[in-house]
Amino acid sequence: MASRIPGRNFLFVPGPTNVPERVQRAMVVSMEDHRSSRFPELSTGLLKDLKKVFKTTTGQVFIFPSSGTGAWEAALTNTLSPGDKVLASNFGQFCHLWIDMAQRLGFDVEALDVEWGEGVPVERYEQILKADKAHKIKAVLACHNETSTGVTSDIAGVRKALDAAKHPALLYLDTVSSLGSIDFRMDEWGVDLVVCGSQKGFMLPAGLAFLGVSQKALAAMKSATSKRCYFDVADMIKANSTGYFPYTPALPMLYGLREALNIIEEEGLENIFHRHTYLASGVRAAVTEGWKLKLCAKAPKWYSNTVSAVLVPEGFNGAHVIDVAFRRYNLALGAGLSKVAGKLFRIGHLGDLNELMLMGAIAGAEMAMLDIGIQVTPGSGVGAASNYWRSHDPIPKRKVSKEEQFAAAHISGSVQG
Ligand code: PLP
Repeated sequence: MASRIPGRNFLFVPGPTNVPERVQRAMVVSMEDHRSSRFPELSTGLLKDLKKVFKTTTGQVFIFPSSGTGAWEAALTNTLSPGDKVLASNFGQFCHLWIDMAQRLGFDVEALDVEWGEGVPVERYEQILKADKAHKIKAVLACHNETSTGVTSDIAGVRKALDAAKHPALLYLDTVSSLGSIDFRMDEWGVDLVVCGSQKGFMLPAGLAFLGVSQKALAAMKSATSKRCYFDVADMIKANSTGYFPYTPALPMLYGLREALNIIEEEGLENIFHRHTYLASGVRAAVTEGWKLKLCAKAPKWYSNTVSAVLVPEGFNGAHVIDVAFRRYNLALGAGLSKVAGKLFRIGHLGDLNELMLMGAIAGAEMAMLDIGIQVTPGSGVGAASNYWRSHDPIPKRKVSKEEQFAAAHISGSVQG
């Protein structure tokens, strides 16, 4: 097989995502004193603006120098005590890893097995919570967007289940591959601990973990006896209150975050959510209408707007598609993990991207599939995506005010002035 020719690499794993040039440039900074009297200008602005992305006014958001996994640990150890009962569900690799962590930290985890391709079993959660009259369950875990299968769950529904059972357990949510890309509302959905990382919707390299904490969770910290040190939120609260961190912060990442938050503010969260739905719909058209293949997500209600996991036909290996795409076409696709290893490849469609970037990923995946003998029609994926994108709007339709309608009518001459 021919070796690569020059040209850019196409990064379409579902994180790390493409880092916009503006963010890259913002990170090229000389080091500075993180204890200077000027430093809090940067940190307090970041903490304030992160809250807008989390959609919380009542909670607090913290920044840890770690990957998202660190925020998983921070969420659990700051609010629970050894032996506490945790309700969780397992429908993908990241659900599995969080459950595994909770077990290793000494909590008593009831993990519901769910078929991979489905999401949080809201009805089962409700039944279990209703049956737990003694309120032994202290934590309810959910994964908003399971990156390994391309499945998004109904988190407002999980909150309703807790409320219907009148259950006081804290709600813990993994938003690593959804926050800043898919609609999420921390306050409105009553989420107590929100876990995220920098390398997906925030368009940064990996290296920062974000943790949203509700007032109820902050109160729970006072009686939680799990051992914690590096990830102790109490240390963070103390240092953040004057605009500092309990240890040396990752300065270039913070400057990158400043620029990423500016970009998010400029586009607007609702426009970002719409763009992700629009781009994802084009990818799904390529997969199902073009290639006539299936997604791992079992039904449209589970479809993820940040990642599509594409099942390869029986007798083929998804890892083979990924390897050919990488070696021959300089395209990085996401691998099938654990239970679904070899059964699929994933296309990440989140962060800083547009239709034509995704066309590269669709065309490359298509060529790689053809190269290993998968019988898709050449051009069918690109054709279906093109049909979708050309007939849909990338920007949500804006409500037009009466004044604007009047002004438009004047300009077009339909109103005589
Ligand atoms: N949760 C989800 C849904 C993820 O996709 C990932 C990583 O891809 C993680 C958690 C772990 O995050 P990190 O790799 O940043 O530690």
